[in-house]
Amino acid sequence: MNRNENIRRLKHENFDLCIIGGGASGAGCALDAALRGLKVALIDQNDFAAETSSKSTKLVHGGVRYLEQAFKRLDFAQLRQVRHGLEERHIILANAPHLARPLGLITPVFSWWEGLYFRIGMKLYDWFASGKDHLPGSRWLSKKEALRRMPGLSHNIHSAVLYFDGQLDDARYCLALAHSADEQGASVANYLKVVDFQKDTHQKIEAAQVLDTLKGDSFLIRAKLFVNCTGVGADQIRRLANPGRGLRIRPSKGVHAVLPAGVLNSTDAMLIPKTKDGRVVFAVPFEGVLLLGTTDEPYLNPEQEPVLESAEIDFLLETLQPFLAAKVDKKDVYAGFGGLRPLLAPNTYHSNGAMTKTMLRDHEVEHDSSSGLLSLLGGKWTTYRLMAKDTIDAACKILGISAACRSETHLLVGAAGWTAQLASELHSTFGFDYDICLHLSQKYGARAHQVARLAQANEEWKERILPQYPFLKAEVVYAVREEMACTLRDFLARRIRLEITDWQQTLAATPVVAQLMGRELGWSENETQRQMADYISLLDFFISKTHA
Ligand SMILES: Cc1cc2nc3c(=O)[nH]c(=O)nc-3n(C[C@H](O)[C@H](O)[C@H](O)COP(=O)(O)OP(=O)(O)OC[C@H]3O[C@@H](n4cnc5c(N)ncnc54)[C@H](O)[C@@H]3O)c2cc1C
Repeated sequence: MNRNENIRRLKHENFDLCIIGGGASGAGCALDAALRGLKVALIDQNDFAAETSSKSTKLVHGGVRYLEQAFKRLDFAQLRQVRHGLEERHIILANAPHLARPLGLITPVFSWWEGLYFRIGMKLYDWFASGKDHLPGSRWLSKKEALRRMPGLSHNIHSAVLYFDGQLDDARYCLALAHSADEQGASVANYLKVVDFQKDTHQKIEAAQVLDTLKGDSFLIRAKLFVNCTGVGADQIRRLANPGRGLRIRPSKGVHAVLPAGVLNSTDAMLIPKTKDGRVVFAVPFEGVLLLGTTDEPYLNPEQEPVLESAEIDFLLETLQPFLAAKVDKKDVYAGFGGLRPLLAPNTYHSNGAMTKTMLRDHEVEHDSSSGLLSLLGGKWTTYRLMAKDTIDAACKILGISAACRSETHLLVGAAGWTAQLASELHSTFGFDYDICLHLSQKYGARAHQVARLAQANEEWKERILPQYPFLKAEVVYAVREEMACTLRDFLARRIRLEITDWQQTLAATPVVAQLMGRELGWSENETQRQMADYISLLDFFISKTHA
């Protein structure tokens, strides 16, 4: 993905579709449309997946809680949602097996009756799955088995129920979607913000004025149709296109606190089915740590990045503690992150901060016939492909194009030729330590060879960025040259995920990454220092918010 070359095309060519927003929804739409042969532009005001799409719980699921609610309320729309999630689960796993994998989830129970209730629920969940993904079925675990699989569990449990869903590296999956769209001919660029629309004499949008937030210049992108995939920013774009539109998105904040993996000491995740205020909380192993979340609170200032706060850690730890053998302490929190769900209000609403947790995470494709803007609203990561299909079906109808969706079986960048043996192959071919090879295989898929070859070309690039992590210095160079990384945060938060797993180690890695990135991007020494200082003060801010 070459940003300069793509921007040149964005400035000079006319597109069928200009997709605004490079999260799961927008990147998914761009790939779907490019696969149908449309001429596509995909832009984001920030990095790909910089907002909600890198801050999820990373589950590929139908949602056991939604299934429970569907039965309790006899809500068929919710049941359909669960079914869609379960149908998409195997497609997400199959199209990028290096970035998504099956995940066991354990629900500890404290009585036989509770066990029976969850056993029946999980059996129904199995039954609703399409059967195409070959995930193991659920089962009731004895106390002994549960403690063997998850040694960190409290000895007060009666037993546990185990079921399976999927897990993905959300930021890298989104990047793989954008990268795959680029490979199919889409012009893809990050750090381009839509600031205005230009309309024709019939008040239809004919161009978007975009600001290059890295360079400061602005230009027009011309397309037959503009597709709004801006998540919690969707209402702003809808109103930019047509100031008369009411609000449809109700942002809801969800946070995760990051704990040492040793707290559960398991490759399985834990589902806490009911918190004191009726939510579910997950404790999920990811990249050598444990993600504990999430919360669900209305958020009234979506312009401001949501961050993990001290009181939220207290709530999450209080919820987790009864399920643990050992005491977990606030000072064990390594890092954390907050995201905003783009929940879809059933009708137009006027912000009053009402409860959001009972709202269904459904999606909707809205066509504003007066401005021509097409908006994809709501949704969740798991159903990104279905959401994209619905949107591009609608776009094709508007443009009078007949082209079938082809995304179901399209392997994403890095997936073709990838096998679980790749790490061993890299180890014998390139001689890097096994942990490095495993990391390269799981992040770059079959493209790991390219990263390994780059590392071999330069003595410095062969080195680790930090002694105790498998990240190579070559990855910084690769991320700039091949994955459009433009800032320290692009690399540290979204290309290698260190920022969301350990803030102190991120601080330690920052000077190393800054020097390498600065050289690749031609930053002056002053610019390198400025980038470093800005990023360090952001991390310091995150850390300060976790202290009471
Ligand atoms: C805490 C939490 C946990 C979650 N867990 C799960 C889970 O486990 N499984 C699951 O399936 N789903 C989960 N979700 C839901 C899922 O993450 C979201 O539904 C999904 O990521 C939304 O993607 P999106 O592309 O619509 O929005 P975003 O990822 O927010 O993307 C929108 C993009 O638009 C860009 N943008 C905005 N304005 C402009 C502009 N003017 N010009 C250009 N670009 C612009 C933004 O920079 C942003 O990158 C979770 C959500 C949260 C908050």
